[in-house]
Amino acid sequence: MILKTAIQQYLERHGYEQMSLKAVLFDMDGVLYDSMKNHTQAWYKTIQGLGITCTPEEFYMHEGRTGAGTIDILYRRMYGRPATEEEQQRIYRVKSENFNALPEAQRMPGAYELLCQVKAAGLQPVLVTGSGQVSLIDRLNRSFPGIFDPRYMVTAFDVKFGKPHPEPYLMGLRKYGIRPNEAFVVENAPLGVEAGVAAGIFTVAVNTGPLPDQVLLDAGADYLLPSMAQLSDDFPAIVRAMQETKREKQ
Ligand code: CA
Repeated sequence: MILKTAIQQYLERHGYEQMSLKAVLFDMDGVLYDSMKNHTQAWYKTIQGLGITCTPEEFYMHEGRTGAGTIDILYRRMYGRPATEEEQQRIYRVKSENFNALPEAQRMPGAYELLCQVKAAGLQPVLVTGSGQVSLIDRLNRSFPGIFDPRYMVTAFDVKFGKPHPEPYLMGLRKYGIRPNEAFVVENAPLGVEAGVAAGIFTVAVNTGPLPDQVLLDAGADYLLPSMAQLSDDFPAIVRAMQETKREKQ
């Protein structure tokens, strides 16, 4: 996948002359933290414990969806009906307990180096996560000191629709006051990629999990890299390409 071609296709599709980078929109789990194994394990333990048939892998496909939305899909498949609100809340509480019992996930290798480069380039890192942990901001400040500004964060408390709906990313743009061609999205999950693309933003997929690359490309990723470390290494070249590439005249 050639970056310049990917940018040109993006510009063509959305009718922009060029990109004008002001911010980078970051998903959190599986991008900034190596936390997806824990989430998957917690979901699997919770759902299997209810006697509902599932596989650990399928939770990677649900990543980014709200907890209620995931539980609803599993109920429809198993019982042919949606989960009630009481069921959604009770099961999500168990999942959270199982998640919190696991050792705290570490920073994703390359994430802090990348964030420092984003800041140094004069760009604003904006967080866009479906997570709703109360301690989120404290934890981000501990893991990534001096990087995030609480004014430019979108969490589960802000949005009505989870990913793959574009709302979380549109809200990220709105909070920082920018247009879709003034940022790019960094995502690891198919539904997150769908959300970024649906918001009209150039979306870079980093495949930090076990899913095949094709799943992320099928979700619409504009560009694909194997890791956050690679994205950190390539960041200067990506910024340069975004500054220099213009839509080809027809
Ligand atoms: Ca994610």
